Amino acid sequence: MPGVHPGLHRTVKTFQFPLPVMLGVIIFAGSGLMMNHHQLQKTQQRKPAWLKRTLPKGSEYEKVRAVLGRGKLHSVCQEAKCPNIWECFSQETATFLILGDRCTRNCRFCAIAHGPSGPPDPEEPARVAEAATSMGLSYVIITSVTRDDLPDGGAGLFSETIKEIRKRMPDALVEILIPDFQANTDALQAVLNAGPNVLNHNLETVPRLYPIARPEAVYGRSLNVLKNTRAYAPDIPTKSGIMLGLGESPEEVEITLKDLLGVGCNILTLGQYLQPSKKHLPVEQFIHPLEFERWREKALEMGFSQVASGPFVRSSYHAKELFQSVRS
Ligand code: SF4
Repeated sequence: MPGVHPGLHRTVKTFQFPLPVMLGVIIFAGSGLMMNHHQLQKTQQRKPAWLKRTLPKGSEYEKVRAVLGRGKLHSVCQEAKCPNIWECFSQETATFLILGDRCTRNCRFCAIAHGPSGPPDPEEPARVAEAATSMGLSYVIITSVTRDDLPDGGAGLFSETIKEIRKRMPDALVEILIPDFQANTDALQAVLNAGPNVLNHNLETVPRLYPIARPEAVYGRSLNVLKNTRAYAPDIPTKSGIMLGLGESPEEVEITLKDLLGVGCNILTLGQYLQPSKKHLPVEQFIHPLEFERWREKALEMGFSQVASGPFVRSSYHAKELFQSVRS
């Protein structure tokens, strides 16, 4: 059966057919015209050919892994099981995860561990900067788990990390992928004052799916992070990303893109949601690469300066190229 259409799945679930008919549906499904829930579940997780990838490994990858290990550092690449880890490591790019490896939130699509976390480590900014320097990075990406337990949400450590990197590598470009700091505008201002080259904050999905996908987040609050950045630091390009395949409709995606443009977002990433484990939300749909290409063209037509769109695209994918294209 071509692709997996989320609507089909729901139709079966929502209509309370009397049991005999339900049985009929399941038996009927046996003939391949429809799928019952379990078949759908199994099929959902079976990746299409375009999501199968041979993973090159090599000295660069091992070098980066060793540096991260020595520095007692976390990379979101490893924690979030990013499919591009080999490609990025081999291009000497990595995204550093600061503020611990446990998040105070529990987004249903995210592989990162969640729960209480210890106090921020004041030495971490220097260690990140050391590692970035020894890796010879020219484009450094800093992100973090969400620390709703901290008064400034960890903004202070973001600022210190940018400053420590600049101390060692004045020409390095720094992109930060921040949480929403629970709408704490002083925290946002403090981070922007440290002068990142790109401010990234992901919407992750469309507003209708927030309650199931990221229940502790608020769609409007996330839009305001980008809007306030545009107001406080108009020279800093803003960036955001959405995963496709969680059950969103094309109309919902288009409205979300319009909302992003409405708050002055310049750079967009669109990628395929992949289920980290059975405990996480199932994939509702695998989006074909041609459809991603169509979204890239549409988003550029709509007004984004730069768009990365594809099954393997993630927040930091080809981040340096996207930034340089915006700046050129
Ligand atoms: S807030 Fe970020 S790190 Fe935390 S669970 Fe959600 S996506 Fe993962």
